[in-house]
Amino acid sequence: MKFDGGCLCGLIRYQADGEPLAQGACHCRDCQYLSGGGPAYTIMMQRSCFHVRKGEPRTHRSKTAAGIYVREFCAECGTHLLGYNEATPEFVAVRVGTMDEPGFFKPQGHIWVDSAPKWHPIDKKLPKWPRNPN
Ligand SMILES: [Zn+2]
Ligand SMILES: [Zn+2]
Repeated sequence: MKFDGGCLCGLIRYQADGEPLAQGACHCRDCQYLSGGGPAYTIMMQRSCFHVRKGEPRTHRSKTAAGIYVREFCAECGTHLLGYNEATPEFVAVRVGTMDEPGFFKPQGHIWVDSAPKWHPIDKKLPKWPRNPN
């Protein structure tokens, strides 16, 4: 699977080329802050499949229950492009909203549903985990 994407203002552009390892929604509190209230929809890929073609993302580190999580974002418009656990930087979760064609996304599950607000629907046909999958 090959796709292009970038941030809202266009300063950062990327191309990803490789098979998604997983696709889904993360309902953790950190993702809610950054999404505006809902989960983060992401595609997990090998870092080596993700190529920044233009611009230079800034990074932000936050302490989470699962360790230090690093997020890369555009310093100009604030769009978050991807995130990864500092312990496993070889795997990145690319934010679906940054894809030029987000319609390719096929959600396979929900994680951190224990943190999801009650008003947010969870697709009952998909597997879900209270926190991170094992
Ligand atoms: Zn931008
Ligand atoms: Zn999250």
